[in-house]
Amino acid sequence: MLTGMQIALIGGDARQLEIIRKLTELDARLSLIGFEHLDHAFTGAVKEKLDEVDFSNIDALILPVAGTNLEGQVETIFSNEKVILSEDILSKTPEHCTIYSGISNAFLNGIIKQSKRTLVQLFSRDDVAIYNSIPTVEGTIMMAIQHTDFTIHSSNITILGLGRCGMSTARAFHALGAKVKVGARKSEHLARITEMGVTPFHLSNIEKEVTGTDILINTIPYPIVSAAVIAKLPAHTLVIDIASKPGGTDFRYAEKRGIKALLAPSLPGIVAPKTAGTILADVLAQLLQDDLKNRKGKVK
Ligand code: NAP
Repeated sequence: MLTGMQIALIGGDARQLEIIRKLTELDARLSLIGFEHLDHAFTGAVKEKLDEVDFSNIDALILPVAGTNLEGQVETIFSNEKVILSEDILSKTPEHCTIYSGISNAFLNGIIKQSKRTLVQLFSRDDVAIYNSIPTVEGTIMMAIQHTDFTIHSSNITILGLGRCGMSTARAFHALGAKVKVGARKSEHLARITEMGVTPFHLSNIEKEVTGTDILINTIPYPIVSAAVIAKLPAHTLVIDIASKPGGTDFRYAEKRGIKALLAPSLPGIVAPKTAGTILADVLAQLLQDDLKNRKGKVK
């Protein structure tokens, strides 16, 4: 249980509703910031504005999956207010206050360091990233269907990266009957791709390997789909870039060449917010309960 714990939940999309549901069920008290337009009320959760919250009482602060942008702004789907997180706010929290987000960036890392607080990036956990890859793949399949006039079955699909998302994406498109090849740079990844029954290639050969691609799916958060790569794609290729913003594609050059290239962030939040929210809620509930137990142990 989370009885006695005061948690601030700042911003986010429909995924946060599962987190609110779970944490209030566990008896935590929640301050919801950036949720004015949310119709649903939860017992134990109070909607507040950023400047109304007494941060000196906050034991944990939960940010959306993306954390903040590079200016500190937190995405708030349920509010029109601009919510900006700052070092000043974090410094007002008690020293034990832990900040939770999906991923981080230079801004968030900076204010965490200045305020000497602890940041937990949920997506750096393998379990969360693997579970989350399931709705991500379903969203990628949805985009492939929406933006092409041919079947996935029998199409040439090139996937870049064999991380948590790359592997799940390769398996799903292979199972749908596509001709899948996967680019990676580690020999053990190339071996795994072979074992999965799809075609491996080394990323150093990417320009040669992408010719003939119908759908190119990038999971690598690095500028890998460069102008030189795009120049080798057939004109009808659809590029779906799921890597975190700004993606790994030269979108300017793709547009110039008339290649449809889409940056596809937050797919789980779009196609399956309930499932994606439950994945986060379950792990957060466990981490917060562990934190509470540790602190109670120290007090004794
Ligand atoms: P991951 O497990 O860390 O996989 C990343 C892959 O990129 C690995 O195969 C890694 O290979 C490769 N890579 C990284 N830097 C590289 C470079 N400079 N050159 C070549 N390869 C490189 O991450 P993930 O969980 O699969 O997530 C992939 C991306 O998708 C992340 O940016 C994540 O934030 C994002 N994501 C987006 C959504 C969405 O809805 N759009 C959902 C989930 C995740 P090595 O092992 O060789 O480094």
